[in-house]
Amino acid sequence: MQIINPATEEVIQEIAEDSPEAILKKFQLVKDGQPVWAAVPLAERIACIEKFYAFLDENKDELAETLTMEVGKPLQQSYNELNGARKRLEYFIKNSARWLAEEWITEEDATREKIVYEPLGVIANISAWNYPYLVGVNVFVPALIGGNGVLYKPSEYATLTGLHIQRLLYRAGIPENVFQVIIGKGTAGQALLELPLHGYFFTGSYRTGRYIAEHTASKLVPVQLELGGKDPLYVMDDVEDVDSVAAAALDGAVYNNGQSCCAVERIYVHEKIYDKFIAAFVAKAKKLVIGDPLDKATEIGPLSRKEQIGFLTQQVADAEENGGKLLLGGGALQQQGYFFQPTVVVNANHKMKLMTEESFGPVIGIQKVKDDTEAVELMKDTPYGLTAAVYSKNFDRAEAVMKQMDTGTVYWNCCDRVSAGLPWSGRKSSGLGATLSYQGIRAFVQPKAYHLRG
Ligand code: NAD
Repeated sequence: MQIINPATEEVIQEIAEDSPEAILKKFQLVKDGQPVWAAVPLAERIACIEKFYAFLDENKDELAETLTMEVGKPLQQSYNELNGARKRLEYFIKNSARWLAEEWITEEDATREKIVYEPLGVIANISAWNYPYLVGVNVFVPALIGGNGVLYKPSEYATLTGLHIQRLLYRAGIPENVFQVIIGKGTAGQALLELPLHGYFFTGSYRTGRYIAEHTASKLVPVQLELGGKDPLYVMDDVEDVDSVAAAALDGAVYNNGQSCCAVERIYVHEKIYDKFIAAFVAKAKKLVIGDPLDKATEIGPLSRKEQIGFLTQQVADAEENGGKLLLGGGALQQQGYFFQPTVVVNANHKMKLMTEESFGPVIGIQKVKDDTEAVELMKDTPYGLTAAVYSKNFDRAEAVMKQMDTGTVYWNCCDRVSAGLPWSGRKSSGLGATLSYQGIRAFVQPKAYHLRG
């Protein structure tokens, strides 16, 4: 398997994919190691994660550089991701003992009752490339703390990062027979579906997620899916500072080149401020610094995958055919690397794929709406249900919109953010189950009810 730098199109490294036999061996190793790990006191398991937390910081220069080289993320955003991952670790370190402790329910008369939380066993963590640290730690950290063994399959586009994670976990004291990286593409992930694992935790596209759910259904084990989105942002006419709202919306749309599951994917603006918003938005988009992702000043690097250039080019063409007006960008940069121009299409409507299919790139459609009712109707017109954002001075008016969203997350005067203390979950085609928060700790254990007499 070749690891390609998307900024230069050069091969960074060649690495052997795991064969089905190698994957089976790794499974057997972890299957034997997991019960021993589960018997290690919880405090010791958490202590390993504390060391891993420190190593992420100590090694941040090397880790950030590798991440930028293999996925094309601007270097500053690689550092931000590592910091964000450490914040999530802080949450798990501080809160796991509380949510994994046994709970006494009844302690009276002759019968006493309690709940004990036991690990699931050996789980698969099949992961995406866009935020390998963030989406990885959501799963393997609470899984390890909970006493599980983990077969961690990083995306084939973030393999070197996956290997760094493994190296640092081992240095932090996680035994080799508890955590194993599975190297390879979709076929390696497919091999995990054939194994008798005790849970499947997936982050990636709707298509692969649905496939995994279908192909593991007969095992009757937990399956959690964190999938894509087509997240709307609505700007009401009462916002006080149109300029700063435009800046926030642009950041939500193009951070990480728009390759975030909760990126702002479509914008609706009240007709009273539409022209002003567009002028501010485009003026800011024109100033984005595109270039070498290893340069700390760069805001937009290359896309991670070459195929995405053709996909986005077609989305823009389809938008223009359906009445869209291109105000900025529209295609790839004619140079080495998978660079795509930040692209703004106005006069957008829902006949366009740009407003209905996940773009996963630095392209955005902006549509004018006459009132909140029309905005809500359009925001809800999607098979996805990850996040939705509203910008307004008036909380009651914003809340009326947020309540109508069939999404796992809603935002008032913010967007494109995740908090470790809140459940991260998608509805409809955006996913199944939740990570983060206490729910994301409990997701990796199963309750056992004790009825005690005597
Ligand atoms: P993908 O579905 O192409 O790949 C995800 C993982 O699945 C990779 O590791 C891949 O090798 C593996 N895989 C592919 N085919 C498989 C198969 N048949 N069986 C088992 N495993 C298989 O997704 P991607 O391109 O890596 O990620 C982008 C998508 O992820 C976007 O849609 C994005 O919105 C979504 N995402 C969602 C969240 C969230 O929290 N909701 C977070 C990050 C990314």
